[in-house]
Amino acid sequence: MRQKGLVFVVSAPAGTGKTTLVQMLLKRYPGCVESISCTTRLPRPGEVKDEHYHFLSDEEFDAKIAAGDFLEWAQVFGYKYGTSKSFVEHELKRGHHVFLVIDTQGAKKIREKIDAILIFLSAPTKAELRRRLEERKTETAAIIEQRLAWAEKEVQEIPNYDYHIVNDDLNEAYQQIAAIVALEEKKHAP
Ligand code: ADP
Ligand code: 5GP
Repeated sequence: MRQKGLVFVVSAPAGTGKTTLVQMLLKRYPGCVESISCTTRLPRPGEVKDEHYHFLSDEEFDAKIAAGDFLEWAQVFGYKYGTSKSFVEHELKRGHHVFLVIDTQGAKKIREKIDAILIFLSAPTKAELRRRLEERKTETAAIIEQRLAWAEKEVQEIPNYDYHIVNDDLNEAYQQIAAIVALEEKKHAP
């Protein structure tokens, strides 16, 4: 894949703050875009079709797999999630940096395929992660337990990432992610 922009992969256990941080970055850097993934899960209250995700049926998703439309896809919490190859290629050619907010399985597949910068975010403690998930009120208690259990597995993948940011103070974490973008731009400058 010919790259003008850079690909940044951001992974974090649910509730860590990856959506919050990436949105902060996109607001301040017009040259950065977030990839809109496809998923077979249902929209949560407040989620907008084709803005947060492209919500697809299982059949529609499988047809895209068969057509080779995904740069990567993975099964997460019982649903399929995938990154559109054409979206990423198009944005890179326009010189945009593309942020893929995807899980650790997807990050691994991306790393094997393209030159991407991998950032892992974690919460300062498990108790704080639980507090954020509970406060967000988008998951049931049972789903929160499932996501906390999965978080333990995901953090074992930290050594495979280029950067690790602990999202304790939001503004500090933001400064760190913005510094990574600036550093990588410098490293990849022609
Ligand atoms: P994710 O996308 O990783 O699941 P979100 O961005 O939705 O996480 O954040 C989960 C919750 O935690 C949200 O309610 C958000 O406002 C809050 N949050 C994010 N970062 C911080 C932080 N540094 N300190 C306290 N709360 C935070
Ligand atoms: P959620 O359902 O909470 O939006 O996302 C669940 C998990 O799926 C998160 O870890 C999120 O990063 C991941 N995810 C979202 N989109 C993709 C994608 O396109 N590919 C992969 N592999 N994971 C994704």
